[in-house]
Amino acid sequence: AKQAGKNCYHLFDIAKDVAVKHQRETLEHIRSALHNQEFVLYYQPKVHMRTGKIIGAEALIRWQHPQYGLLPPAAFLPVVENHLLSIELGEWVIETALDQMTEWEVMGLEIPVSVNIGAIQLQQSNFAERLEELLFLHPAANPRNLELEILETSALEDITQVSAVINACKVLGVSFALDDFGTGYSSLAYLKKLPAQVLKIDQSFVRDMLEDTDDLAIIKGIVGLANAFHRTVLAEGVETIAHGEILLAMGCELAQGYGIARPMPAAAIPEWIKTWRPDDAWVK
Ligand code: C2E
Ligand code: MG
Ligand code: MG
Ligand code: MG
Repeated sequence: AKQAGKNCYHLFDIAKDVAVKHQRETLEHIRSALHNQEFVLYYQPKVHMRTGKIIGAEALIRWQHPQYGLLPPAAFLPVVENHLLSIELGEWVIETALDQMTEWEVMGLEIPVSVNIGAIQLQQSNFAERLEELLFLHPAANPRNLELEILETSALEDITQVSAVINACKVLGVSFALDDFGTGYSSLAYLKKLPAQVLKIDQSFVRDMLEDTDDLAIIKGIVGLANAFHRTVLAEGVETIAHGEILLAMGCELAQGYGIARPMPAAAIPEWIKTWRPDDAWVK
């Protein structure tokens, strides 16, 4: 048994070496993809269901891989997590979103854009300064049209320091949302301490709310919290008209989801804005 254990350990070591090597290689691939401009931002509209007003679009990263095609963030973001590269990638996302806002501005379109920001990125001590520089370099993009969606709030280490960073960014005109609200630990503490205007109800609650009364109760609770704390609430993952109707009945009027629009290339957004109409059931 001892012998077998030894062999196992040996095998485990080899497996670990392979994993480490694979991780290193994948990081290198991502680094060169960044330099070769293989990343793109897709945009998913956010709307006010009752009026049909388009309130903005969320930028969602994709990797246009030369062999594997269009890859979702889940295929590569976990690899860069905890690496310096995630900071570089995060800056690329903000910069590209600002370029896009500039391009839309030139076309006469004012479209607020939200960008996802990971906990590590937000905890960089120079985050607000870098943001200020990027805004300075994109004078046609109105900072009031830029929103940052904070991901993984439970991974935030120093809430006081993070609120200071958020406040410094707010001075620049940029606003904040708490993404995936309701998941992770102590959402309530974050709600109290982080000066973010918007709560994005996590799509896992929205998806099952038609069948699962617990999820429905959670959504009701989040809408109530948002009202009590004078925050705005938006539901992600609105896949059907029925989802929208129930959310409206509960007082959640802002939404995003496949039932409204899937994430699309930036070039498709102007046409989508021209043609989209909310469902009659929402407007009545
Ligand atoms: P998220 O920020 O919560 O974004 C919403 C995700 O839900 C997106 O997936 C979107 O395509 C998907 N979605 C939207 N509506 C529906 C719907 O009705 N049904 C379903 N099933 N899904 C819907 P995506 O683009 O794969 O992004 C996944 C996550 O990756 C994001 O979740 C966010 O956490 C992260 N992410 C995306 N882009 C970036 C980025 O630029 N930087 C960082 N740090 N993270 C990003
Ligand atoms: Mg630029
Ligand atoms: Mg988001
Ligand atoms: Mg989410």
